[in-house]
Amino acid sequence: MALPEDLHPETLLVHGGTARTPFGETSEALFLTQGFVYDSAAVAEARFLNEDPGYSYTRYANPTTSVFEERMALLEGAETARAVASGMAAVTAAMMGQLRAGDHVVAPRAMFGSCRWVIEDLLPRYGVASTLVDGPDLDLWRRAVRRETRAFFLETPANPTLEVFDIAGVAEIAHGAGATLTVDNVFATPLWQKPLALGADCVVYSATKHIDGQGRCLGGVILGSKAFIEERIQLFLRMTGPSISPFNAWVLLKGLETLPLRVERQTASAARIAEAIIGHPAVRRLTLPGRADHPQADLIARQMTGGSTMLAIALKGGKAEAFRFLDALRLIRISNNLGDAKSLVTHPATTTHQRFPAPERAAMGIPDGLIRLSVGLEHPDDLIRDLRNALERV
Ligand SMILES: *Cc1c(COP(=O)(O)O)cnc(C)c1O
Repeated sequence: MALPEDLHPETLLVHGGTARTPFGETSEALFLTQGFVYDSAAVAEARFLNEDPGYSYTRYANPTTSVFEERMALLEGAETARAVASGMAAVTAAMMGQLRAGDHVVAPRAMFGSCRWVIEDLLPRYGVASTLVDGPDLDLWRRAVRRETRAFFLETPANPTLEVFDIAGVAEIAHGAGATLTVDNVFATPLWQKPLALGADCVVYSATKHIDGQGRCLGGVILGSKAFIEERIQLFLRMTGPSISPFNAWVLLKGLETLPLRVERQTASAARIAEAIIGHPAVRRLTLPGRADHPQADLIARQMTGGSTMLAIALKGGKAEAFRFLDALRLIRISNNLGDAKSLVTHPATTTHQRFPAPERAAMGIPDGLIRLSVGLEHPDDLIRDLRNALERV
């Protein structure tokens, strides 16, 4: 039965893409199978010729994974989506799929550590040059363009600084240069930012974060127009095989049903927490997209429809003060994950961004006193009490 038109995101996330088996199950079926059998040799031949629409092998497609992909595409407003094994599989496939030796990529300096490794270290091994710019200045993006520039990549808000980059502005520069723009939308979540509507050609997610939201499994998603995905990404995925397990796709699919409830609650709690600790004498600076005091509040108002579940808290002092703070927390746990039901803190300088030398970390806006907080689903008053107690120990 086809769904009614013009449904709200909350409704699409419960019903979108559902394909029931003849048993009429309520919850989506889990097809934990590597492959599929054919009624005849002729059917097998037709399926390999793409003349028969059925499934053939889970590295190519799987019915459970297809429901997850369809639901993600509906939420994002994308023509199509492909699910993969992790967020990094999504970033790597999205970039490698559209680039070849001799091409050039532009990206900002401030990025998730592994994304930066792919752009800065992996791509050049295969003859793809890259230039890193200070993201907020559009002129620097413009000046980085070369005749061979084929792709731009950015992540906004950026991890862990929560600095924001202008998606529409960078998309215009990319398209003017005949290049594409890929946006890692993990921190914003599909609810608070729609990069495709702002001009991006491709959106990638680590579904490990808010989409699962309960710390159970890894996953990634690549979204874009049918032409973009089919011409640049599909063959790379089929042939290299960064496939998601149908089991993980099923877990993530169920995660989507509660995504708006969780992200709205986490965003509201983050705003309350920021208000409660911003004046504390141990806090040098607090960054939360959605607050009027964010340095790029105007840009955020133009390109995001909500705040953030993530806070960047710069403490006065360095590593010793940061460690005292982290070790004094009793409820909020130290972890490098984010978007989880459990509130989690990270010290980027010694974990996610440890491999960068101190001067490079400083250039990326990551002082030794910086703490990244992912706000969970606990009662915000319990979190505020835990944070205030720990701040007293700094
Ligand atoms: C976590 C994360 C990734 C990588 O995702 P995995 O699922 O861990 O591979 C990529 N980009 C951003 C912004 C992330 O936070």
